Amino acid sequence: MARAARKKTVAKKRRAPSALKRKSSSHPVIDIHTHIRVPRVMQFMRDNKPPPQPGMPKPWVPPASASADMQKRQEDAIAAKHLDPKARFPDLDRMGIDIQMISYNFPVDCYWMDGETGLQAARIINDTIAEFAAGAPDRYYGIGSVPLQDPERSIQELERMTRDLKFRGVLISSLIRDKDLGDPMFKPFWKAAERMGVPIFIHPQGFSQPDRLAKFFQWNSVAQPLEEALAMQSLIYEGIMDEFPKLKVCIHHGGGYLVFYAGRADRAYQTRPEVSHLKASPSTYMKKFWYDTVIYNRDMLEFLAAKVGVDKVMMGTDYPVFMGEDDPVAFVNGAKLTREDKRKILSSNAAKLLHIPA
Ligand SMILES: [Zn+2]
Repeated sequence: MARAARKKTVAKKRRAPSALKRKSSSHPVIDIHTHIRVPRVMQFMRDNKPPPQPGMPKPWVPPASASADMQKRQEDAIAAKHLDPKARFPDLDRMGIDIQMISYNFPVDCYWMDGETGLQAARIINDTIAEFAAGAPDRYYGIGSVPLQDPERSIQELERMTRDLKFRGVLISSLIRDKDLGDPMFKPFWKAAERMGVPIFIHPQGFSQPDRLAKFFQWNSVAQPLEEALAMQSLIYEGIMDEFPKLKVCIHHGGGYLVFYAGRADRAYQTRPEVSHLKASPSTYMKKFWYDTVIYNRDMLEFLAAKVGVDKVMMGTDYPVFMGEDDPVAFVNGAKLTREDKRKILSSNAAKLLHIPA
């Protein structure tokens, strides 16, 4: 073989498969909202499930029901995309996504574990995310989990995941056991997150009172956006957003209902003593949060960007779940927004918040 040809072959062998590399280097399209679920992690959760306790929520999908069967069938169909980083590449290419943030929903049950077991669960989750992301380090970045029922251990894990695993944020639920996020017990965690500059992503899992909501899948269609509205209001009304003004909090699913019904919260602020302690109207506080685009309606995206500021909106999909947005770039590009605004939503807002290199 001629020397030049041999050189070419060696170079070809060394080159990583193209899917390992993102396509766009200057303005990478970033999906801030994707998940994995891994059987060995779920097994740890089952093996360490705490006994039933007062206040513990019931499952939002009733066991041994048609809904549970459907849930399982849908999850089985996407199992490979949860396990194998490469299994996502065809979808990423089809959707025009360069980078995905990878998170693992900390199961609600895990918030009922004792702090040490909860920490073990979080470490297993975070190590699993890191392993997955290492499968294509140019395209996947981790968002970690913490056992927030134990704020001190959560801070330990927050430090480990950002220092050792290079994670870019942490995902928590909207309700921790029976405590809303504005509860004073979580203040040390908010303080640490602010000090470290780590973005917090709020993502509910079902609803705290699922009995009325199982039959028509309302635990997801109606109640998760309500959980998000309640989480935001708790952080605003309990003074967390004032006490920790540099906190970076992103609410998934477009922030739930709150922004879209901001006028009612503002009217309560103007007329009721229960909320008159705020330093500004609730809709002013809403501009302090970040949001994703998993809202399915373009007119809602346009409204969200106008209401909270386009700099606070980032593209997300909820990939690979069936409720996810299937054509997220076209969804953003089809909105009545300027070219510059779309570029911010698709790329630069997330790159800035999450320190993703261009
Ligand atoms: Zn999600």
